[in-house]
Amino acid sequence: MDQTTDTEGQARHILASVFGYGQFRPYQGDIVRHVIGGGDALVLMPTGGGKSLCYQIPALARPGVGVVVSPLIALMQDQVAALRQNGVRAAFLNSSLSLDQAREVEAALLQNELDLLYVAPERLMTARTLELLARLQIALFAIDEAHCVSQWGHDFRPEYIQLSVLHERFPQVPRIALTATADVPTRREIVERLALQGARQFVSGFDRPNIRYRVAENSGNAREHLLRFIREEHEGEAGIVYCLSRKRVDEIAAWLAAKGLAALPYHAGMPAEARSRNQERFLQEEGVVVVATIAFGMGIDKPDVRFVAHLNLPKSLEAYYQETGRAGRDGLPADAWMVYGLQDVITLRQMQEGSQADEFHRRIERHKLDAMLGFCELTTCRRQALLRYFGDRLEEPCGNCDTCLVPPQTWDATVTAQKALSCVHRTGQRFGVNYLVDVLLGKGNERMQAFGHHRLSTYGIGTELDANAWRNLFRQLIARGLLAVDLEGHGGLRLTDASRPVLRGEERLTLRQMVKPAKTKAGRGERKTLQPVTEPERDLWEALRRRRQDLARKQGVPAYVIFHDATLMQMLDQRPQTLAEMGRLSGVGERKLAAYGEEFLQVIREHAASPGEP
Ligand code: ADP
Ligand code: ZN
Repeated sequence: MDQTTDTEGQARHILASVFGYGQFRPYQGDIVRHVIGGGDALVLMPTGGGKSLCYQIPALARPGVGVVVSPLIALMQDQVAALRQNGVRAAFLNSSLSLDQAREVEAALLQNELDLLYVAPERLMTARTLELLARLQIALFAIDEAHCVSQWGHDFRPEYIQLSVLHERFPQVPRIALTATADVPTRREIVERLALQGARQFVSGFDRPNIRYRVAENSGNAREHLLRFIREEHEGEAGIVYCLSRKRVDEIAAWLAAKGLAALPYHAGMPAEARSRNQERFLQEEGVVVVATIAFGMGIDKPDVRFVAHLNLPKSLEAYYQETGRAGRDGLPADAWMVYGLQDVITLRQMQEGSQADEFHRRIERHKLDAMLGFCELTTCRRQALLRYFGDRLEEPCGNCDTCLVPPQTWDATVTAQKALSCVHRTGQRFGVNYLVDVLLGKGNERMQAFGHHRLSTYGIGTELDANAWRNLFRQLIARGLLAVDLEGHGGLRLTDASRPVLRGEERLTLRQMVKPAKTKAGRGERKTLQPVTEPERDLWEALRRRRQDLARKQGVPAYVIFHDATLMQMLDQRPQTLAEMGRLSGVGERKLAAYGEEFLQVIREHAASPGEP
């Protein structure tokens, strides 16, 4: 056998025997072979793409210990727990360890008893740790969340800057840097600061095909809408609900809990202890919904989050992509669900207008907000637009977003928009939407009479739409930048340069037809749902989940560390009868087969014997 096929065989063997997987995901195989061969690598892969295996397998294949630099203590613990379940000798060094515990880890290192060591960057940089490492054989250095080295990014960690020392001190040891944040400037910065000029770059696309993007219009009952969505599509499953303010977080969490859901709040205003208790429950228990501000998420590595819901619009598509990206890391179907409405548009426009930033940064903010609003108002495939924004291409519409599944109707709104715009003009460009709609509908009141607006030519010319439809139209006009929101004027609207060609009839305007909430559900029929459909199936599914939960609780680890949902789904589909059959399922490596195979076979057998089975 020559060197390459040897490496190939070794990598595949570890993939199957340790992790229980039959195939590499895209890029994984190439990266693993490259690093086993001693090469440096920069890996850019979306969340859930499978970055961990890219260094874990080479660490096992190469002699010595693989050293993984990771910024988040919680993540380290999870990764180490998961690796140990697979029989990998892994440990971590960080500030959560007592002195004795740290000594034990060091002793294990010196005895060559570890395959993987996770270490916090500040710990790694101490003289003590560097001297320790100098006495060891090191398989590789993996630098996880490598974008933390970027000073412009929002996750900047000063300790990361010093990581270039690794290259100087251990020039022979291959290094692999990994991140899911991937714009070109950040990538350049990583290369430069970590001295990775010689590294091969592996850049996979941004697509998260298992995530279904959905944006629904908020017609004033967002939380009812949310509750219906969770009940109908994600009963008993884990999810995250994002809100803009702490107050709203508390309110929504309490409301959902009162409706019988396991909903918990999370925001920076809570006592640290309550916050971490809720996070812990989310990780360890099944079916917990966390209602949170954006403070929640960094370091949440839970693979089976089945939905991320936004009750408010994120400020940019970057934020949207990052937040929704926490759904479906395990590759199973997941929803990115959002409601948005007129008030969101007005609030964000006002925030942006009131921004204290200098002109340059304001322009960037405005551009980002425009992109976010444009995304909401799309009538074409959302995934294509999202990927295009990140410089990625998708040739065909995706078939897995709301606009693909239920193509929105459009209409020629030119004349109607002209009425709205001229109403803004004639009332002096200082009134808010509600007032303008009243004028258009001819609903005069005292205030309007006082202004004399009941005598305007636009008074009562808009009876072809109802108030809701007018608000919808105004939302789209603001979102498209045809109307600007006045800062001091309590949401007063004024015309922009972009509105003139429409007013003059030089430009036609095609808008999205308002979608009735009931309609957005359509297309669900084709959903590859995670929820078992028939009664007996459901019983077995619940029994498998209960067994998993019991095993997890005994060891104090999250349930998904025992088996992922994907593996339980296969048990449900294939009903293995023997250990050999069980061992063929994806996610069942040798160690897990030995430890849990019999337990789960038993559940399947009991179920087959029970009278519930047809
Ligand atoms: P990332 O760090 O890129 O977000 P992870 O490394 O956590 O992603 O992997 C995401 C999920 O995909 C994990 O649950 C992992 O077990 C699973 N996974 C990774 N590679 C494979 C593979 N080749 N086959 C099946 N599942 C995989
Ligand atoms: Zn689509």
